[in-house]
Amino acid sequence: TIEHPHALSLFRAAVARAADKPAIHYFDATLSYAEVDALSDALACALIEGGVRRGDRVAMYLQNVPQFVIGLVASWKAGAIAVSINPMNRERELGLLLADSQPAAILAHESAYRDVLGKVLQEHPVPTVITTSELEFQTRGDARLFASSAHDRPVTTIDFMECIDRHRGEKPPAVEYDGNDVAMLVYTSGTTGLPKGAMNSHRSVAFTAQVYRDWMGLPEGAGVLGIAPLFHITGLIGHIALSLLIAGPLTLAYRFEPGVVLDAIAEHRPVFTIGAITALIALMNHPAATPQILGSLKTIYSGGAPIAPAVVEQFESKFGIYIRNAYGLTETTSPSTVTPKDLRGPVDPDFGALSVGVPTFNTEIRIVDVETAQPVKSGESGEIVIRGPQVVGGYWNKPKETAEAIRDGWLHTGDIGVLDAAGWLYLVDRKKDMINASGYKVWPREVEDVLYTHPAVREAAVVGIPDEYRGESVKAVVSLKPGTSATAEEITEFCKARMAAYKYPRVVQFLPELPKTVTGKILRRELR
Ligand code: ATP
Repeated sequence: TIEHPHALSLFRAAVARAADKPAIHYFDATLSYAEVDALSDALACALIEGGVRRGDRVAMYLQNVPQFVIGLVASWKAGAIAVSINPMNRERELGLLLADSQPAAILAHESAYRDVLGKVLQEHPVPTVITTSELEFQTRGDARLFASSAHDRPVTTIDFMECIDRHRGEKPPAVEYDGNDVAMLVYTSGTTGLPKGAMNSHRSVAFTAQVYRDWMGLPEGAGVLGIAPLFHITGLIGHIALSLLIAGPLTLAYRFEPGVVLDAIAEHRPVFTIGAITALIALMNHPAATPQILGSLKTIYSGGAPIAPAVVEQFESKFGIYIRNAYGLTETTSPSTVTPKDLRGPVDPDFGALSVGVPTFNTEIRIVDVETAQPVKSGESGEIVIRGPQVVGGYWNKPKETAEAIRDGWLHTGDIGVLDAAGWLYLVDRKKDMINASGYKVWPREVEDVLYTHPAVREAAVVGIPDEYRGESVKAVVSLKPGTSATAEEITEFCKARMAAYKYPRVVQFLPELPKTVTGKILRRELR
């Protein structure tokens, strides 16, 4: 059963039993659960005073700062739906999101207001604009992160701390939610198209937080390290909702910067994190990374993008920590399959993929034919479809896209996968990323997994490029580990020796760093 009826209940229960315990570590600042409760009460009152009513949207355009957690809880206390916006979004994307979600209030960094939001608001006005300094709550500025940001507040907005001071000690009117009520709109990260606002319900937030706790084995009070951005579903659930459920401290570090994150681990000793494999690769290759520091993280999961078995092995041999794999989408409010806490995910003998885990409780997964949507035979590949309490109610304002994606409660993921007889799921790749080389199907993930076994390869991505003779041909783009070297011929020969002739990359390009989303996913679209 799902223990909590809605997301706000996770928070209330944490305050009831851990008021004096740390809720958030942010550089040298620590906020207790009681403090987050008081701050979010005051902010909720300010939002209500600013006109926020039940069902209105409250947008958060913030980095990984305490104000994000306070803003999220305050939105729920005010009866609103939280909207999380990627802080990297510029004018065009932000304008689209504001036009779509029509928020009654927005919380943003002062620097973001000056650089982007101020201009966008001229076309898409939001009634209440609250701005906040990146340095709020902490005294020890980190030059590596904040060197360029000035802190004078724009005059047309309300200051976060002033709002709170004005309402300190007040409590918002009591609010209750049904599990089906929308808790937040989370816009799909946009690796494949225009962003759509997934409507994550209160039930799905309560459910997935529990999946994290129980399937990844996280005890009461465990420290969580936030390496995924909080606006993304992995941060919202795997960092915030999980911390609330277990009443533990969440360590935040503004944004992902490996050196800063390693310092935060050394200082606050979190035991769990989940993030994109590219972030874990960056931590692994950082000169300051030691088994002593990283050893704090007894449990590490990777989600959101494929992980090569070679990277898991390297991480384990260097730091003694085995990275486990979990699979989910914004549309499933985070994990749908998890490699359970005590198990190691098997690697498929035929196509080399590391399993993304087994379906979690109350979750059904089927593999269906891409064209007919009929279930395929056991062990065959097809599109992954998912049904369970984590599947969203649909996309905000988008009935057509909702009807295409969710049919009879089954979410059509656009991912190609295989379910083995024991129930382990393997991802072949995304349907849209398949390369058609002379009529042969090439799945980029498979070629990337081989590239990662090359000792000099740090990051790898494989894409199809137009080819007059083959239709498409396979191209690899790689970045190399510091202090190593390799030529394009060496990489090609390495792959040629390890895979069928139609699969190995015909073209190899080197980049110092591969383009990624802020969530750490490599942008194959951009490489194409
Ligand atoms: P958009 O929907 O705009 O294209 P996105 O798909 O990147 O963006 P997310 O919801 O963040 O949005 O990502 C979900 C996708 O990430 C899944 O459909 C899948 O392709 C991929 N993914 C998630 N977890 C894993 C995993 N463990 N291994 C491989 N791929 C994964």
